[in-house]
Amino acid sequence: MGKNQEHALSKELLPMMMKLRREIHHHPELGLSNPNTQRLISEALPGDFGSIRLGRGQTTWLTFTLRSEREGPNILLRADTDALPIDENKSTAHSSQIDGVMHACGHDLHTSMAVGAAHVLCSTRNEWDGSITVLFQPGEEGFFGAEHCLADGAIELSLFDAVFALHVDPKLLSGHFAVKSGELLAGSDTFMITVNGIGGHASEPHLGRDPIAVACEIALALQIMVTRTVDPFKPAVITVSKIEGGSTRNVMPSSAQLIGTIRSFSQSNKELMRTSLQRVADGICSAHDVSCQVSFTRGYSPTINDPRLTDLVTKTTSELFGHSRIETLATARMGSEDFSTYLGSVPGVMTMIGCRKPETSLEVAAPLHSDQFDPDENAMADGAAFLASVASMNLRTLHE
Ligand SMILES: [Zn+2]
Ligand SMILES: [Zn+2]
Repeated sequence: MGKNQEHALSKELLPMMMKLRREIHHHPELGLSNPNTQRLISEALPGDFGSIRLGRGQTTWLTFTLRSEREGPNILLRADTDALPIDENKSTAHSSQIDGVMHACGHDLHTSMAVGAAHVLCSTRNEWDGSITVLFQPGEEGFFGAEHCLADGAIELSLFDAVFALHVDPKLLSGHFAVKSGELLAGSDTFMITVNGIGGHASEPHLGRDPIAVACEIALALQIMVTRTVDPFKPAVITVSKIEGGSTRNVMPSSAQLIGTIRSFSQSNKELMRTSLQRVADGICSAHDVSCQVSFTRGYSPTINDPRLTDLVTKTTSELFGHSRIETLATARMGSEDFSTYLGSVPGVMTMIGCRKPETSLEVAAPLHSDQFDPDENAMADGAAFLASVASMNLRTLHE
């Protein structure tokens, strides 16, 4: 009975979720401070039943907690609220009204689905045990929002038995789900290499030390380094994404800079790539009699789904929607997520929900972070039913 009920309730909630999603999409907010979004969420939640807490400082988190009368597990559902610094390149009635800011990663849908799930869980509160907290966190897009929420006391992570989240996937057909046990998303690090040479006239390079030629050699050598250093069965990526140096055609500059990202799934691979990158940069610079500085900036950890909880999520999803709408991802992805911060302390699962419109072919579907990202809002009915069902699923088998 329960599963059909969650399904039916979520369908009834779809107009509310669409309205909320459009308001959030219309007024996207960046980084750790999303006050307008926080207000919209608190107004849309069923405040009569659960308790709402708000982050009132620099980090505008919001938690909504529902308690059953019976003892049971404490479950955390996580949604994210921030947008991206992208100019929306698509015109609809609810397009972004803020220049240069757009919800292009679907966090407007994540938030609206989590509000929908809160409503469903209120209606079904006599049918599950324990407590369920929905955390709406800002600052996912590179601002370490999860760490800020924890430092700010939004939740006491150690009190939770499991944590779940959904992320939209524009390559997957709307209403379909994709799960993966273990490694789901990579950990990321940023690197910066500054090559210091000696500037001079571009016609007399032998009188200076050309940093640009050396920077180009480093960029190419890093690709060889990855393939010759890292075990091919342990995925790793280094991408030089920015090269900067020089000012005009007839001046050899004194320095050049390379900036890029390192992606990996283990601490050992990450350390291997850091030390190898440093060695390659130093070695090439030494060969050409120039010097360099290398620095790294920590990013998010890898997102690793708990295998036993992934099995339970898969079972719950196929009970809700049927086997045909759930697939197992064959490989992990090289994107990264700060959901991994919670997974460092609490077992949990991030699941992908398809948001590709049925009329849009796979080849032309705009990816996440595209200025043309255009998700199917109807997927939110399935997403809310999924979140409510997963949050209230029976975890007792886990402890047997
Ligand atoms: Zn994103
Ligand atoms: Zn995202």
